[in-house]
Amino acid sequence: MTSNSRVVVLGAGLAGVRLARRLGELGLPALLVGEEEHRPYNRVLLAEVLAGRYAPEVIALPAPDGLVRARATGIHRDRRTVALADGAEIAYDTLVLATGSNPVLPPLRGLFTPDHVLPEGVHAFRTMDDCLGLSKAVRPGVRAVVIGGGLLGVSAARALALRGAQVVLAQQGERLMERQLDPAASRLVRRHLVDLGVEIHTECRVRDVRCVGGAVRSVEMADGYALDADLVVLACGVSPRAGLAKAAGLAVHKGVLVDDELRTSDPHIRAIGDCAQHDGTVYGLAAPALEQADALAESLAGNAGARYTGTRSLTRLTLAGHSPFDLAAFGETEPRPGDDVVQLADATRGTYRKVVVRDDRLVGGVLVGELGTVGALARAWEGAEPLPDNGPLLHLLTNDGGS
Ligand SMILES: Cc1cc2nc3c(=O)[nH]c(=O)nc-3n(C[C@H](O)[C@H](O)[C@H](O)COP(=O)(O)OP(=O)(O)OC[C@H]3O[C@@H](n4cnc5c(N)ncnc54)[C@H](O)[C@@H]3O)c2cc1C
Repeated sequence: MTSNSRVVVLGAGLAGVRLARRLGELGLPALLVGEEEHRPYNRVLLAEVLAGRYAPEVIALPAPDGLVRARATGIHRDRRTVALADGAEIAYDTLVLATGSNPVLPPLRGLFTPDHVLPEGVHAFRTMDDCLGLSKAVRPGVRAVVIGGGLLGVSAARALALRGAQVVLAQQGERLMERQLDPAASRLVRRHLVDLGVEIHTECRVRDVRCVGGAVRSVEMADGYALDADLVVLACGVSPRAGLAKAAGLAVHKGVLVDDELRTSDPHIRAIGDCAQHDGTVYGLAAPALEQADALAESLAGNAGARYTGTRSLTRLTLAGHSPFDLAAFGETEPRPGDDVVQLADATRGTYRKVVVRDDRLVGGVLVGELGTVGALARAWEGAEPLPDNGPLLHLLTNDGGS
């Protein structure tokens, strides 16, 4: 890549902004195109804005100069241009897709009005606009139903409860955050939410959204039970935003397929972040998005050895406020037969620590409420090094390794 090659980055989220900034530092300024009207921001902290803990400007990202606010509507690979919604076209030598994810909208009856918009009071939770819309609607006593009990639903339910809403969380699975947490940790998250006044229904499928005059009034469960609702938050997961890539004929499976140089099936187009699928994995998490951006910046700046080989990232959730609650989870939190498990639980303090060890390697763990050892554990897990054989495994949970 020569320094006069034009790099165009589509999407001014975590990955796109990081890439543009790194390229600027490496002397290869890029053109960043983003559709959101707000200053680029850190999506991970949206729940803190909803909870009223941070003002929106606190979570702004240091964006590079010259951000183009526009929505890209098509890629002309033959003439290497990107079409924008206002009819303009931008030429590129290298195009980077950093378009993130879309919220998954569950197949509920009544979810869309006849003109295909969400009814008043029903919100996804993905963008600053979603967050500000919810923030405007939430008042003490408002009845809110959060659909989905993953990381997103838990964060939304907690934020709304802190704002004084009467929150019901409806989770289809048997426990909260089941992708990341084992049953014991999940119970502690549940207890934390219940202490904040959130009513939780698990193994419960929402079937219907009932509206009057275009505004939501209630949601109905598969068993016919109805919950009154002034606000409904859809937190049912995300899917990679790969429509532009697909329409341009790039190879797309769940996300846009990329190799270790983050290259798509077109050598002039790369993809990073939530929209990309590397080695079979769509991460949908912040740490991999940032690592991919850093690796791609090196690669575009001419470092021939720069590769992205995957991220072993831990999920960390900090629920701050008057009753702070921290958790971290990584790898496999449920043991297989023959694995060693070390566990420390303190029901009174609401803390829980557990690691799973296979042969002589740490394969996963979960920490709730007491994260002193997280740095040392994450390093042992990321490095996949054999564990030292001098001392009991319990040491893993009590030695913070200076972190
Ligand atoms: C409420 C919430 C909490 C989260 N909490 C955590 C957490 O605790 N830990 C964690 O690891 N991850 C968390 N995540 C996930 C994390 O935010 C994402 O993994 C991360 O933002 C991915 O970065 P990205 O740049 O790929 O996508 P995004 O940050 O989504 O940015 C993509 C940008 O591209 C823009 N765009 C898309 N298409 C176009 C187009 N055609 N033209 C112009 N612009 C376009 C979008 O508008 C968007 O601004 C959370 C997400 C949410 C919503």
